[in-house]
Amino acid sequence: MKPGIHPDYHEVTVHCACAATFKTRSTIKGNLLRVEICSSCHPFFTGTQKLVDTAGRVERFQRKYAKAAEAVKAAAEAKKK
Ligand SMILES: [Zn+2]
Repeated sequence: MKPGIHPDYHEVTVHCACAATFKTRSTIKGNLLRVEICSSCHPFFTGTQKLVDTAGRVERFQRKYAKAAEAVKAAAEAKKK
C-alpha cells in the first residue's frame, strides 16, 4: 500500500435505532456508527410493516384512503340491496 493516501479502515460498532448493535469495518471517523434502520428491523427482512414517518404524511395517506375504502364498501352495499 502506498503510505499516506489510504483512509483509516478500522472496526466500528453500529448502533441502530431499534437497539440492535453489530460490528463492521469502516473508514468513518470515530468508532461508533448510528443508523436509523438495519437488517434486523427493515421491513424487507422482517416482513412486517414499519412506518418511517415524515411529518405525518403516512397518517394523511391512510386517512385519505380509509375514506375511499369506506365509499367503495358503501357503494357495494348499496348495490346488493
Ligand atoms: Zn435496526
